[in-house]
Amino acid sequence: MDCLFCSIVAGDLPSERVLEDDHVIVFRDIQPQAPTHLLVVPRRHLASMDELDDPALGGAILAAARRAARDAGLTDGWRLIANTGTDGGQEVPHLHFHVLGGRRLGRMLPG
Ligand code: AMP
Ligand code: ZN
Repeated sequence: MDCLFCSIVAGDLPSERVLEDDHVIVFRDIQPQAPTHLLVVPRRHLASMDELDDPALGGAILAAARRAARDAGLTDGWRLIANTGTDGGQEVPHLHFHVLGGRRLGRMLPG
């Protein structure tokens, strides 16, 4: 399958990896929206959260996000985002979570 993040997982395309384990890789977003902007990407191809059928993989993604945030020194907080589908603004159709931090992020929900 012709998938950008599958190619990065396979090492056929370059990325700046900061962490990896059996289930996921974490690398720097090429167009960072914050001083720290990482992508947590499962090695297995799933198009989006709509296909995340494995609770163990979900747990592995969350654990990797937390570890990556800690390793990046985001002690004042950070944000985890999974854009999903067209209305969610997803551009790359391989499941990924954004880890954002290093500055005060604007509120995204009314409150
Ligand atoms: P999304 O809009 O949630 O699908 O996010 C896709 C993200 O992937 C965007 O933040 C892009 O900047 C990022 N991105 C696209 N291509 C690459 C790449 N080759 N390496 C790292 N990040 C990328
Ligand atoms: Zn893929």
